[in-house]
Amino acid sequence: MTITTAAQAAYIVAALLFILALAGLSRHETARSGNTYGIAGMALALLATVGLAIDGAISGRNLALLLAATAVGAAIGLYRAARVEMTGMPELIALLHSFVGLAAVLVGWNGYLHVEAHLDGAEAALLKSQDMLGIHSAEVFIGVFIGAVTFTGSIVAYLKLSARIKSSPLTLPGKNLLNIGALVAFVLLTAWFVIDPQLWLLIVVTVIALALGWHLVASIGGGDMPVVVSMLNSYSGWAAAAAGFLLENDLLIVTGALVGSSGAYLSYIMCKAMNRSFLSVIAGGFGIEAPPSETTAHGEHREIDAEGAAELLDAADTVIITPGYGMAVAQAQHGVAELTRVLRERGVTVRFGIHPVAGRLPGHMNVLLAEARVPYDIVLEMDEINDDFAGTSVVLVIGANDTVNPAAMDDPASPIAGMPVLTVWEADQVIVFKRSMASGYAGVQNPLFFRDNTAMLFGDAKDRVEDILRAVSTLQPAR
Ligand code: NDP
Repeated sequence: MTITTAAQAAYIVAALLFILALAGLSRHETARSGNTYGIAGMALALLATVGLAIDGAISGRNLALLLAATAVGAAIGLYRAARVEMTGMPELIALLHSFVGLAAVLVGWNGYLHVEAHLDGAEAALLKSQDMLGIHSAEVFIGVFIGAVTFTGSIVAYLKLSARIKSSPLTLPGKNLLNIGALVAFVLLTAWFVIDPQLWLLIVVTVIALALGWHLVASIGGGDMPVVVSMLNSYSGWAAAAAGFLLENDLLIVTGALVGSSGAYLSYIMCKAMNRSFLSVIAGGFGIEAPPSETTAHGEHREIDAEGAAELLDAADTVIITPGYGMAVAQAQHGVAELTRVLRERGVTVRFGIHPVAGRLPGHMNVLLAEARVPYDIVLEMDEINDDFAGTSVVLVIGANDTVNPAAMDDPASPIAGMPVLTVWEADQVIVFKRSMASGYAGVQNPLFFRDNTAMLFGDAKDRVEDILRAVSTLQPAR
């Protein structure tokens, strides 16, 4: 068996491992094995690729370069992954998507420079003899376009998610026309490039795509960022698939298509969960108008201290905890798990309500609560628990904001209007844990904080939960 045959067989096994990885990652219980399949598939794919290069008579110098690049990439990846906080995952993912986009652009440019720029060379002669030059040109152009959109779009997503730029939407005049104009220009230029592949056309499409990627993501507000992250995930898959066609690498095509289609499906599910139009979000907030400036006066808020909260909790029959991004930042999940245990021992029924986009990545809260060993059966999804807030004695909103904002239901002019939220205000008493009156990720003020049955418990969520635990331990059981 030649190295090439063995490598092709390894590619098929790697593709199967990637499919198993996706299947495993779809459930808590199998997520760990899903990850292991993914790592194994990627290691096999890398080995096979190096094997193919050796079989293709790669020069010693190029082989050394290939191995050095792999080692540097692996070292940076290990370093970043080992240090990243759970709260920093989405921005790391966004940054990694940008690398896939950049790689697709470089592969496309390389494809052009190698063939079209040397039209009298052997490779071009082969393509011409098979009438394939037009297809090759289209692959180059489309690959560069998708890659460049993914590259700059992911960089903006990274900047927004890491709070290096504001998460509010950029609203340039005629923004929808700009996006549509860029797409029309891309289609026309592709036809031109297929007929007459010239360098300047490739330069123009690269610039247009870089600007479009930047504008598409900059135009989307903070509340819709979860969809953007999964959408860029999908784009990065299609960019990889486009690179796979150019490099004639079947595994890259299969893997790219898997990532592309699963990312698109995840975006669709998240849009449904957030009651957003899928097309409007992928078109850079198409049809979404600039939010009016906040003029509504919300009134006075009421405060409570840890001792007061402990007394309310101890006297409660039922408690629902709705965690959000702030719980992750404060790393309060272990204290929250302990408080849950103590209250249940004292006869209080405690459950959790999880919003689909709470935190900064899908499943963020579930992962944190599982890590703190909160039993799965008391952790409920929004749809399962939303009818139960009415009749609940106390709701603890721990570091959540946008996901419990009644403006989403009451104020049609709000940027988060229409997004389903946890209806915590229907409970008898709501206690909100946060450090200030600042708005949530979408930049929208929250009228919940000013309701009569809401009390604010200011400070770091972890410290306040520990204060409550101490205060509860000094109380005689209420029942
Ligand atoms: P938000 O991001 O809306 O609000 C978090 C709140 O936590 C803030 O108001 C902040 O207030 C508070 N907070 C921060 N640090 C602490 C701390 N140490 N102790 C106590 N409170 C703290 O949270 P949600 O989870 O409700 O909403 C998630 C938002 O993120 C949504 O807009 C969603 O669309 C978006 N998003 C979600 C993604 C996902 O996939 N899940 C991905 C990208 C974005 P203060 O500063 O006053 O303390």
